[in-house]
Amino acid sequence: RQHIGKIKTGCTEFDEMMGGGIESQSITEIYGEFGSGKTQVAHQLAVNVQLPEEQGGLEGSVIIIDTENTFRPDRIQQMVEGKANELGIELDYEEFLKNIHVARAFNSNHQILLVDSAMDLANELKDSGKPVRLMIVDSLTAHFRAEYIGRGTLADRQQKLNKHLHGLQRFANLNNSAVLVTNQVMSKPDAFFGDPTKPIGGHILGHTATFRLYIRKSKGDKRIVKLIDSPNLPEGEAVLSVTRDGIVD
Ligand code: ADP
Ligand code: MG
Repeated sequence: RQHIGKIKTGCTEFDEMMGGGIESQSITEIYGEFGSGKTQVAHQLAVNVQLPEEQGGLEGSVIIIDTENTFRPDRIQQMVEGKANELGIELDYEEFLKNIHVARAFNSNHQILLVDSAMDLANELKDSGKPVRLMIVDSLTAHFRAEYIGRGTLADRQQKLNKHLHGLQRFANLNNSAVLVTNQVMSKPDAFFGDPTKPIGGHILGHTATFRLYIRKSKGDKRIVKLIDSPNLPEGEAVLSVTRDGIVD
């Protein structure tokens, strides 16, 4: 078993709660309402993973499976500039963008297939200076939620999601990569969709994702992240800010 890597988030409290950062060889799920900051955290990790270990990264590249078309190169540029200011060094955002491999998933089947393509790309990059050390699926559940509507199809949805998660866990293990998945929840229960205030995937996802984080808005640019489920860490809460520079204390 290879040494477990940790990617820092940019927020000290958040990293401490996670025992140092987002772990490789594990799936970390972040769930929360629309606008809570899931995609911001994903963008920040896509930047941070590329840094050397002493700066909180794994000197790796990233694959993003983008299902909602929310990846923004401009946002990466802002975060790289923020990181350069923080560290007092020069960083070239275009270099960072080159190491972020984005694939759009058009439906849930396509999303599952993209994990195989990701595996091929990771194999190609294995002995390059920037092996894949982070895979992001943002959003894990949006296509599944849209395609499987109503009670009768929930078991099918669960089964497919489970298969997808096993593919992602395999990717994490074979590449010593971290996997971050996002999952949107709604603020109010909705009879038609079951209980969307709970992250979809329920127990099955709960047992497959190693770490589960709940993020919610607080005052101003503040967000509260709560560690809900972990095999080895106590539950806890951390406050972070989402600024132009990215995720900060
Ligand atoms: P979701 O959980 O739906 O993925 P996002 O991660 O997209 O939510 O968060 C969107 C929020 O992030 C915005 O409402 C805003 O508060 C914050 N945000 C996005 N971009 C910036 C930026 N450039 N500067 C400061 N805050 C930003
Ligand atoms: Mg989002």
